[in-house]
Amino acid sequence: MIIQKIWSWKGILNRMDYNECIPLRPHHGLCIPHYTGYGYDARFVKNMDDIIDHFNDHPDQKIVLRISADVLCLSCPNNQHGSCNKEKTVALYDRSCLTLCGFSEGQQLKWGDFLQAITKTLMETSQWERICGDCQWLQLCQKTHSGI
Ligand code: SF4
Repeated sequence: MIIQKIWSWKGILNRMDYNECIPLRPHHGLCIPHYTGYGYDARFVKNMDDIIDHFNDHPDQKIVLRISADVLCLSCPNNQHGSCNKEKTVALYDRSCLTLCGFSEGQQLKWGDFLQAITKTLMETSQWERICGDCQWLQLCQKTHSGI
């Protein structure tokens, strides 16, 4: 069914070369390393698993930093016709990540380089918790973080 084909990027990712940019919300650079298989629903989790597998296998994958719906939002129940129903909150998370890491919206870079910057600047300090302190997943991420 068409719906089932479009909610996961797996098929698209398999056909992409690394010069094609994957759109990514900057704050998802914090969600991804803290992810342990929990999510809004099964569809979201499946897509998250596929994207993370791809990034783990391809650190040279190019991404473009966007403050708008991205590859993870694609299968999220909060995504209402291409717009997050928590847009104000998540856009603040995105802008904080960009500012603190010295990136700008629309910037293209390799996933591995982005993750390295996020890790050094935000995750190896306590800054990440201040960025997304009101997120519903924070407690779970704190638990994961203590084991990273
Ligand atoms: S909550 Fe919003 S920003 Fe986060 S994945 Fe869902 S649609 Fe995207």
